[in-house]
Amino acid sequence: MKRGRRNAVVGAIGLWLWTSNRARSDAQRTLNMVRAPFTPEQVLNLWTWQNNPRVHPFTCRNRGDHPELLGDKGVLIPTVKGWVCMFCDYTQDWAHDFMVRQNERH
Ligand SMILES: [Zn+2]
Repeated sequence: MKRGRRNAVVGAIGLWLWTSNRARSDAQRTLNMVRAPFTPEQVLNLWTWQNNPRVHPFTCRNRGDHPELLGDKGVLIPTVKGWVCMFCDYTQDWAHDFMVRQNERH
């Protein structure tokens, strides 16, 4: 009996830790995101990222049948209204904050 109750408590604590860690990482991800509209300077920084050969660019979800441009299929184009795809109506309204900050100190 006693052991059963202890296991239940340990299980509940484990579940709580698991869910609170998950909630924390979700909150962290939201904190590190920037949503459109972007400023013209942010758009330029995003464009620089899309042309950086060392990182994978943001691409369209429907890119399978898109032509290749800028070294990949369906590379998204940043605008002040958000990301757009040149080849379909896909849009994306967020970026990682480090992407828009990149050149701010120059
Ligand atoms: Zn597309």
